[in-house]
Amino acid sequence: QVEQENEIKYWKEIPEIERNRTQIGKENACIYMLVRNSELHEALDSIRQIEDRFNRRYRYPWVFLNDDYFTEEFKKHTSGMVSGIAEYGHIDPEVWNVPKHIDMDLYEERLRYMEEINVIYGGSRSYHNMCRYNSGNFFWHPLMLKYRYYWRVEPSIKFYCDQRYDPFEFMRLNDKLYGFVITIVEYKDTVPTLYKTVKEFLEKRPDLLHPDNGLIFATDMEPTFSWVDEKFVREFSLDGYNMCHFWSNFEIGDMTFFRSEAYSAFFNHLEESGGFYYERWGDAPVHTFGVLSMMNASQIHHFSDMGYYHPPFWRCPHDKDSFESGRCLCPEADDNVDFAKYSCLAKWLRHFAKDMLFEMAPQSL
Ligand code: GDP
Ligand code: MN
Repeated sequence: QVEQENEIKYWKEIPEIERNRTQIGKENACIYMLVRNSELHEALDSIRQIEDRFNRRYRYPWVFLNDDYFTEEFKKHTSGMVSGIAEYGHIDPEVWNVPKHIDMDLYEERLRYMEEINVIYGGSRSYHNMCRYNSGNFFWHPLMLKYRYYWRVEPSIKFYCDQRYDPFEFMRLNDKLYGFVITIVEYKDTVPTLYKTVKEFLEKRPDLLHPDNGLIFATDMEPTFSWVDEKFVREFSLDGYNMCHFWSNFEIGDMTFFRSEAYSAFFNHLEESGGFYYERWGDAPVHTFGVLSMMNASQIHHFSDMGYYHPPFWRCPHDKDSFESGRCLCPEADDNVDFAKYSCLAKWLRHFAKDMLFEMAPQSL
């Protein structure tokens, strides 16, 4: 009898679930997800993690965009899970679909060809539209215009560590314009002429090339680990591009950069070349070249303290404290992608953050 009473009392003491959605974080920022209705569960999976590890203490708004209309079910479940507000945007078909200057017969032919030679997603029309949208358009969406910073989140990701500071505030205070966690090499048959097109642009607009740019990261042919040889690096590269790119399924960025005259000119030049359709340029290598050529390399930040997974790769921090403090819970496996032959992180750190390379792989210095 007594035991039962205590139990009831205990449960009564749990406070009401708070439904105050007022933003706590002080930055002009949002969390951005481009997503399909059919990915509801995978989206919730990502939201749950970002909320638990970070956003429930900050309540930044989420912006969900879709080329289709979101279903009531999608809106109800995602709004129910986010701690702050959620906004839902429809993407104008004029913006999403193939632009007028694309030769549709040639596009059809290229789709068949890319399918035939097994270019990853090369035969998928929606994927081409998606990559182009994320390359040059999402930051112009009416719902995104009021924000300065965005954190891009995709369905089916994992976020392994407590985020104990506000990364948006970090970006502002440290003058950062672009942040990433994973960097690997791109499949070269997706971007046969991307680097050539970037070079044409920079020849046309040398005024936009930043004097302290980071292009060397994408163009050096240096092996980054002692156990990777030069032959291996060349196998991955094509015409002077080593295929390194920031994996854009995670990014924290300053949209003032992406909306600048410089980035617009860059994107328009790529757009005119047709490479989003005649080839299968991903938004990741496109952002990478924009960021590397027109920013000071010091304005690009590797979030070395974040643990992250997007199928099929994960990475976690390399310091002991992240684990001893309980801040991170990472896979037990030893396949942290930072150490893979096709990872570019050591290359990035060697050029721009030597101290972090020392923490990760002292033998590679
Ligand atoms: P992957 O990460 O390269 O394998 O490609 P995903 O399938 O994850 O697509 C990248 C992002 O774009 C994810 O956030 C998807 O939810 C989203 N996405 C991809 N294709 C479409 C599409 O046709 N419509 C919408 N609304 N979102 C898409
Ligand atoms: Mn994805």
